[in-house]
Amino acid sequence: MAGGCSNARDPVRCRGMFGSTDTASPDALRWCARGVLLFLALAPCSGGAAPFVEPLAPGVYLHIGKHHPVQSPHRHDIANIGFVIGARCIAVIDTGGSADLGKRLLAAIRQVSTLPICYVINTHVHFDHVLGNAAFTDTTAQFAGHVQLAGAFRGSLEFFREEFTAELGDAQLIKPELLVEDKLQLDLGNRILILQAWAPAHTDHDLTVLDLHTRTLWTGDLLFRERLPIIDSSLRGWLGVMESLGTLDAQRVIPGHGTVSEQGWQAASADQSRYLSMLLRETRQQIAIGTFLGEAAAVIGQAERDRWELFDAVHPTNVNRSYRELEWE
Ligand SMILES: [Zn+2]
Repeated sequence: MAGGCSNARDPVRCRGMFGSTDTASPDALRWCARGVLLFLALAPCSGGAAPFVEPLAPGVYLHIGKHHPVQSPHRHDIANIGFVIGARCIAVIDTGGSADLGKRLLAAIRQVSTLPICYVINTHVHFDHVLGNAAFTDTTAQFAGHVQLAGAFRGSLEFFREEFTAELGDAQLIKPELLVEDKLQLDLGNRILILQAWAPAHTDHDLTVLDLHTRTLWTGDLLFRERLPIIDSSLRGWLGVMESLGTLDAQRVIPGHGTVSEQGWQAASADQSRYLSMLLRETRQQIAIGTFLGEAAAVIGQAERDRWELFDAVHPTNVNRSYRELEWE
């Protein structure tokens, strides 16, 4: 993520993204100029912090979360969150892991646009994606999510209040009212977002957002890059959903955690596909030869250890869940 005095390189990045300035469309050039101005406005050359959001494409802005463990005091800022601007209004996609981070996102939106916020979309209920909702209660936004998300909120309320007291403060946790059973089309004004609800995978209520205008897919935690994926619902389900995600017309892929890919779904998800496929294969093998659950994590997937952030913190839990899912096949 660029910041500080490195802003000068952004015109170069703009040319690289759209070809030469001779061939780039007026829309692309206008956006590039606007992006450079935003960077200059948000990150003056004072050695200060990086800007909170980065313009990725026309009207698409992203804040990249960092790979802190969930025990870290910085755990509120681990997920990718952002927003999409249409001609009429703005949609926010995930709000971060604290009320304060949600406020920073709202402030970043207001530095870019004064249009109303019409939707706050949550990709799933995990704390790092929803606790910032509180910052948007005074906006006109409708809160949207998977049809199972409202129940997941109810089921998580007590856990959030106990485990994330500091992150929540005295803010209210906002539940979704616009529920997606299959697909839902949202019109931001000359800009259509397709919200799609998925079968159990990372969680039992994962939702993706596809911006048709820029072919940008926000995956929520259906995709992790660099940071080890966490299975909270179904390994087999997740692998099935990943196949379906490959059929969407997406070029730019924004994972729930990790770096953005401009190379489409197959390239973006190659590492996660390899890890989850290995987990399925090796867990089945260990079950077949009678390895006990308590011993399985030490022998399954060790070739993956050096390829991921937070492997040791997450992998044993993944093996545990996979074993329990697969042992009665
Ligand atoms: Zn997450």
